[in-house]
Amino acid sequence: MNSDEYFLREALVEARGAEAAGEVPVGAILVAPDGETILARANNRVLRTFDPTAHAEVVALRMGGKALGNYRLLGCTLYVTLEPCAMCAGAILHARLARLVYAAGDPKAGACGSVLGVLNHPQLNHRVEVTAGVLAEECGPMLSQFFRMRRS
Ligand SMILES: [Zn+2]
Repeated sequence: MNSDEYFLREALVEARGAEAAGEVPVGAILVAPDGETILARANNRVLRTFDPTAHAEVVALRMGGKALGNYRLLGCTLYVTLEPCAMCAGAILHARLARLVYAAGDPKAGACGSVLGVLNHPQLNHRVEVTAGVLAEECGPMLSQFFRMRRS
């Protein structure tokens, strides 16, 4: 198992935590520039905190900023089980992350190529290395099952 898979599995554990709390199951792990140290583990908590911005990514970036004592998370990598939305992609840019790794694409709201392309927009300065589709076969079904159950 390579390190991308390892950290995405950790993100998947977080996503299950969100699911157990009745939230849309999305988890995120923020890793330090050394590629080993986990700075933050977070999951989606919009319902629990009455906070529309409490997506897993934003929660992880906030924790990471506190851990590093800096609002710029230079050299860090964020692992997410689902393609980030426009808000989270914007937050990733503000944080100056080096890298984003996500599992499942989000054809409804994904802002890293699916619906919008917020990252690596030609007119924006900051570049983020994006790796998509890692563990998608595990993370994707988890989300579709969740929405199927919620509809029924
Ligand atoms: Zn988001």
